[in-house]
Amino acid sequence: MIWNEKIETMPRAELQELQSERLSKLVAYVYERVPFYRQQLDQAGIAPGDIQDIRDLGKLPFTVKADLRDNYPFGLFAVPREEILRIHASSGTTGKPTVVGYTRDDLQIWAEVCARSLAMSGAKPGDMFQNAYGYGLFTGGLGMHYGAEYMGVAVVPASGGNTARQIMILQDFQPDIMACTPSYALTLADRLLEAGVDPAELKVRAFILGAEPWTEEMRRELEAKLHVDAVNIYGLSEIIGPGVSNECVEAKDGMHIMEDHFLPEVIDPQTGQPVPEGQVGELVFTTLTKQALPLIRYRTGDLCSITYEPCICGRTHARMSRILGRADDMLIVRGVNVFPSQVEAALLQVEHIAPHYAIVLTRENHLDVMEVQAEVTDAFFQRVGSDVFARHPAEVAESIQALERQVHQALRDVLGLNAKVTLLAPGQAPRSEGGKLRRVIDKRAL
Ligand code: AMP
Ligand code: ZN
Repeated sequence: MIWNEKIETMPRAELQELQSERLSKLVAYVYERVPFYRQQLDQAGIAPGDIQDIRDLGKLPFTVKADLRDNYPFGLFAVPREEILRIHASSGTTGKPTVVGYTRDDLQIWAEVCARSLAMSGAKPGDMFQNAYGYGLFTGGLGMHYGAEYMGVAVVPASGGNTARQIMILQDFQPDIMACTPSYALTLADRLLEAGVDPAELKVRAFILGAEPWTEEMRRELEAKLHVDAVNIYGLSEIIGPGVSNECVEAKDGMHIMEDHFLPEVIDPQTGQPVPEGQVGELVFTTLTKQALPLIRYRTGDLCSITYEPCICGRTHARMSRILGRADDMLIVRGVNVFPSQVEAALLQVEHIAPHYAIVLTRENHLDVMEVQAEVTDAFFQRVGSDVFARHPAEVAESIQALERQVHQALRDVLGLNAKVTLLAPGQAPRSEGGKLRRVIDKRAL
């Protein structure tokens, strides 16, 4: 079902008119209410009235994460503290978190875009939804929670982690839809299989997965293991949280951006200029309707492409590709750009390799070494024999050597780079305990 038929299938010309109208209001709004923006616009020589159309967007200055940090915690809020009804934060890798706030209207918009996301994923009123996104400062849990309730879907607020309990809920309550990170879905799938649960015993038909990069190969793996549709959801705290965009289950080919609220651009991260449609660049959003924390041309750091081609589901809103990675997650190994998701894609092409891996970067003789540690599947492990594997895998068993060579070749084909390959026994690579999973260990700076 389409949750908001009128908006989601609006002819593009009409949608652009709506966006233009909202953009022009937004610029006046921030100019009046946020000293930071007043200064930015003054500096750029832009008066609020100068921006009347989305084609004027390029005249506006960018906002970056450092601007939020410099104004920590509430300095960019456009409403008095008393009008803020919710505060979330996104934990960066270091230092203070990025703090975001919501007014009552913002919370309503958030519920709306999450309801649209749930509908795109195949949910309908009357369903039951197991929400295994973390509840807390992270936006995932509460964002999806209110979207589901708004839609008329019963929520089981399981939050992340406690895998045994997640499985109990899946078996005993029989929810229709589940949401979590893709790495945690994998943990769940493996634990279900270990526990001897046949996915056919479960009613759950779709997993809504986001908050971290994943690949088509991982989708195939999860769909086969769980017998569900695995759909991609994208969002970031600064813009609203989950529900910025979501795949429709009909096409599973790019995430529809809720364009009436979030105006997207894709730019060349070096020059700041827009890239042609379909080309990869940095995703930038302008919030068109947010009251508490309106952001103009916010640089997400996420790399993807956007298409405006019509979709088979009937929605007219643009679709963004999977996130290839964040500009700051890109590894540079001997001058070659590597995204962890490319490693995942390469590994999952190789038979007998499980979707569990880690990437370890070190420096030897002033040269980068990328070691890819990949788990073999249980079946392979059993066949080769665990003692053999535990001793010196590469030296002892022919089949292990052959598999290592295959992995090496797959990585070479995808990355154009020679990686050191270490095969791990099942259970040796890191697992998600409920949230986002860190698979890269960079020891080069140590
Ligand atoms: P946070 O604000 O802490 O929720 O983190 C937001 C970031 O998570 C985004 O900027 C992306 O880098 C990442 N992210 C969220 N959803 C996805 C997704 N579906 N695919 C890849 N990365 C994602
Ligand atoms: Zn669609």
